[in-house]
Amino acid sequence: MAIEWESVIGLEIHCQLDTKTKVWCGCSSDYDNSSENTHTCPICLGHPGALPKLNKKVLDYAIKAGFALGCDINKESKFDRKNYFYPDTPKNYQITQFDHPYAENGHIDIKFSNGCEKRIGVTRIHIEEDAGKSIHAGEETFINFNRASMPLIEIVSEPDMRSSEEAYQYLNLVKDALKYTKISDVSMELGSLRCDANISVMHKGSKKFGTRVEVKNLNSFKGVARAIDYEISRQIEEIENGGKINQETRLWDEEAQVTRIMRSKEEAMDYRFFPEPDLVRVVITDEQLKTLKNEMPESKIAKMKRFVDTYKINEKDAEILSNSIELGDYFEELVKTSNNPKLSCNWILTEVLRVLKDNNKTIEEFSISSKELGEIIILIDKGAISSKIAKELFHIKLNDKRSPIVIVEEEKMAQLADTSEIENMVMEVLANNPKLIEDYKIADEGRKPRVIKGLMGQVMKASKGKANPKMVMDILIKNL
Ligand code: ADP
Ligand code: MG
Ligand code: ZN
Repeated sequence: MAIEWESVIGLEIHCQLDTKTKVWCGCSSDYDNSSENTHTCPICLGHPGALPKLNKKVLDYAIKAGFALGCDINKESKFDRKNYFYPDTPKNYQITQFDHPYAENGHIDIKFSNGCEKRIGVTRIHIEEDAGKSIHAGEETFINFNRASMPLIEIVSEPDMRSSEEAYQYLNLVKDALKYTKISDVSMELGSLRCDANISVMHKGSKKFGTRVEVKNLNSFKGVARAIDYEISRQIEEIENGGKINQETRLWDEEAQVTRIMRSKEEAMDYRFFPEPDLVRVVITDEQLKTLKNEMPESKIAKMKRFVDTYKINEKDAEILSNSIELGDYFEELVKTSNNPKLSCNWILTEVLRVLKDNNKTIEEFSISSKELGEIIILIDKGAISSKIAKELFHIKLNDKRSPIVIVEEEKMAQLADTSEIENMVMEVLANNPKLIEDYKIADEGRKPRVIKGLMGQVMKASKGKANPKMVMDILIKNL
């Protein structure tokens, strides 16, 4: 019988905090469009004698991340030096938190398709500084220190995940939770969210974990999942062929879709951690915790549940509407005007999101306010316009300052509900289609509705889509 394998995965996630300045100095963090090495000073360049000082905002943001991931916040923590020599690290050490991180014991609940939940532990979160960037150009290497000492938090998970799907979901939920707190733009593409995956395999049901491999250089959510799957297969194959897994660091090669060895355990560095003598201990007061807690937004999970309960929309729709705080707010404002949650939800999920996607815009940049869209929905609800005309109105409104009601009036878009006017149209269509009338007379009960539909289509066309469909139908039947 073939051996059944089980994989074990733990993730280390780095998140760049979106503060205005760096973590120890006043250098602006807004360097994306600046030339190289223009956002630097003696502190972030590690000049001798320059002293770091913790940016208060960094600690505030980090604490919010701790809240968002359900962590206990340690009232006291400290910084340490992680010593290593690498050109992009100007001080030849990184300031990080080694044995006393500021946050511990958090969790994220992932959900399976059958509705069951599983809790993934967050071991710890610590604050640390980023390195600069090496730029390799042919024979030469250049260094840009603009990113040096940018604030990061590192979120370390327990080895609780058992598949790439679980890891993918955990990573997405961590991202969602952080995004809601507005402490980071959490973009893997832009590098403000980075992830390393630790992977091992063992016999199913075993109590002892296998030797783990750490995979770096993961640049997308999909890449993380693919690298994990590749690594699981590689390790199983290796063991089944009589080999063994070495504790090593590997790099994901996105192009070749394989992991390659970067360094073995023997080559692993001894970081000689020791307490950072230039920074005081981090002390967090109850007052600070209380203030920050009050600033925390409703979580995405809580919002989804509330949307389902309050507005009676389904869970999938609620999830999309809570994709960002702003989209959720737009929906709730829209319902305040329209008083019709279901129709409001449908309009956002179809028309609004399509326009945003086509124009690569966010809801904050959308040209139709929630109040204006609410007015369109009221017009549909009242039967003043058909849903077909409503879509036309919506598209006119995208680039039109006039209110929906004024547009409907001025462009004569209102649904036609005048009996004599509809009657005239029906009579004209009937007069022009004697053959269809004959058809109708000889048609059996099964075919009759189809003939009527054809006639109805012609009346609707004659009215440019504005006639009240039910009235057209009634008048047609009466006159046939
Ligand atoms: P290091 O500091 O060397 O990176 P840690 O003990 O902090 O080591 O662990 C790093 C990550 O590796 C954590 O996310 C942890 O969950 C994960 N991990 C630990 N042991 C295993 C294992 N046997 N298989 C898979 N992941 C593991
Ligand atoms: Mg590690
Ligand atoms: Zn600086």
